[in-house]
Amino acid sequence: LRYDSYDGSRASEDESFNNARRVADHYSARSNQTLEEREASPIIHLKKLNNWIKSVLIQLYAHPKDAVLDIACGKGGDLIKWDKARIGYYVGVDIAEGSIKDCRTRYNGDSDQQQRRKKFGFPARLICADFYEVRLDKYLHDDAPFDICSCQFALHYSWSTEARARQALANVSALLRPGGIFIGTMPDANVIVKRLREAEGLEFGNSVYWICFDEEYSSKKFKSSSPFGIKYKFHLEDAVDCPEWIVPFHVFKSLAQEYDLELVFVKNSHEFVNEYLRRPEFTDLMRRLGALGDGNQDQSTLSQDEWDVAYLYLAFVLRKRGQPNLS
Ligand code: SAM
Repeated sequence: LRYDSYDGSRASEDESFNNARRVADHYSARSNQTLEEREASPIIHLKKLNNWIKSVLIQLYAHPKDAVLDIACGKGGDLIKWDKARIGYYVGVDIAEGSIKDCRTRYNGDSDQQQRRKKFGFPARLICADFYEVRLDKYLHDDAPFDICSCQFALHYSWSTEARARQALANVSALLRPGGIFIGTMPDANVIVKRLREAEGLEFGNSVYWICFDEEYSSKKFKSSSPFGIKYKFHLEDAVDCPEWIVPFHVFKSLAQEYDLELVFVKNSHEFVNEYLRRPEFTDLMRRLGALGDGNQDQSTLSQDEWDVAYLYLAFVLRKRGQPNLS
């Protein structure tokens, strides 16, 4: 395992720097939960459902020996999923130093929870860096090209300014091989804006989450405003409490095209679940994860409020233009 941190030529204390810092501090401060604490979470089934969605994406697109770039890898919650896909190499990047430290602990297998776990079957490198701010192509020159880039529940943090959104896509495009795959999950702007329009004020939610927009972003102004920097405050019980940004998907899709990344599919989480849960191998996986209970009356299952939160997200797959080099 290699471990380092990179801040490129990062400049000043401007607003976008402060926004990125707030997000990083929020995630850094979240401590690792014990298994008991995790099972007692009010959104435990949502967490399991999200793990299922990520596992399905990985199983659909990862191949043995692949080199993987996990953007905003967090505490390394997906390491086991990548191990099951028998990848060959893993690079994880995250802005939150605390999360990168937890990820290292998990990879090394020296946390209590992981003690009995066998070592991961791939070498790894972990980097603390702002993926949406700094150019990483030269820094990661010896690790690239990657077969897969993954950015789970994090790409919306790049949408605070156009420059950051572009840097995120420029990094992905420069680091992926031709024909390589970019998989991800992020909030579904269509659903969030729809919910805002239905709401009486600028805030809406349920027992496990709330979203609140600033006065300046009342829904009627969305059409005329820039598609970047549309900020809201997101609170999800036992998970998130920080600023986030709307990612209008049609803008994301055309910006990605500018960086040679073509859309393969985009699906809201509800559609994703309905489609892939039909496949026996993924039904089995869902049963093992326990997100939807196991059909047994005693087993608790996803609540309506958790299912409503799932609806706020989408999954996407993009492919880097060009033919893979088969030599
Ligand atoms: N991908 C992980 C997962 O699915 O479990 C973590 C998701 S968590 C909701 C969002 C992650 O995005 C946090 O770990 C946060 O530190 C990271 N993040 C936010 N902004 C980032 C940036 N500019 N560069 C790298 N990571 C960032």
